[in-house]
Amino acid sequence: MIEQPHEASNSILDFDFPNFPPAAVNVFPNLFSSVQCPDGSVAMMGGRIDSAWQWNIPIREGVVNVPIQQELEELQTILREVEPKADVNDMFVWSLNGCEGYEVKKYYLKLQELGDENSQILLEENRSAIQLIWNAWMPSKVKLFAWRMLKDRIPTRMQLLHRNIIEENEDCCCVLGCPVIEDVQHLFLDCGKMRTVWINIYQWLGIHVDFIVDCGNHLLKFVEKLKRFCPVKRAASLWAAVCWCAWKHRNAILFENAMDDLEDLVHKVKMYSWLWMAIGSRKRVICSFYDWYNYPLISMFV
Ligand SMILES: [Zn+2]
Repeated sequence: MIEQPHEASNSILDFDFPNFPPAAVNVFPNLFSSVQCPDGSVAMMGGRIDSAWQWNIPIREGVVNVPIQQELEELQTILREVEPKADVNDMFVWSLNGCEGYEVKKYYLKLQELGDENSQILLEENRSAIQLIWNAWMPSKVKLFAWRMLKDRIPTRMQLLHRNIIEENEDCCCVLGCPVIEDVQHLFLDCGKMRTVWINIYQWLGIHVDFIVDCGNHLLKFVEKLKRFCPVKRAASLWAAVCWCAWKHRNAILFENAMDDLEDLVHKVKMYSWLWMAIGSRKRVICSFYDWYNYPLISMFV
């Protein structure tokens, strides 16, 4: 959103320019204190010559020095793209479609464009992993969680530190008790306790997946191992169930002083994955929880 100034607006130094978030008074402090009338209207900062607007910032005599000159040149460069209107009031212009009014479609397309730019640095494997998550059978909130997790955008202690929400002298270590900083890779794969959980799940399913990978690759390998037994969507939701239950387990320990009960965590993974399977398939659940609990690979064909 950009601001379209009117000639009678408040000082040109006091409004936000396109692509220039803070008010100009904060960005050009030397210039602001040197203009003849810092609170003057836009009309006092220029004039029309043959109907074309020309900016002319009036500086007090005898005060021009190098910093002021530099700030003035910088401001004039920005102002080249700004022309006050004499016949319309101040208004905001939605810059994506160049007219008044917000359009969801334009915003969506812009986000996609930005996404494409970002995706150039997103590894191909991670893109495939995210695609799996979006198509898997699980509640939307879990999809959102898994998507954020794969993009390292969940509030682990590492992320909170990175965003200055917690400080280095605060506890940044793994909530499950390791003397290691808690990031996504540690919390869901490298942590000794999480490995115990994964190994329990592997034993339950009768598979093994390497740990020496990142989370996205782990999901791909996990699905690869299971895809001859069940639809890919079901395998991906099973993987997400482990991560979702681990995250809830970690939060319960941190915020509710819950017990660090790994057996209970494994049990919840089995329960949630069964529930999501039942809901996602949009059919009556044919296999009982007992069958799922005891013979998951046979039940997966159901
Ligand atoms: Zn740990």
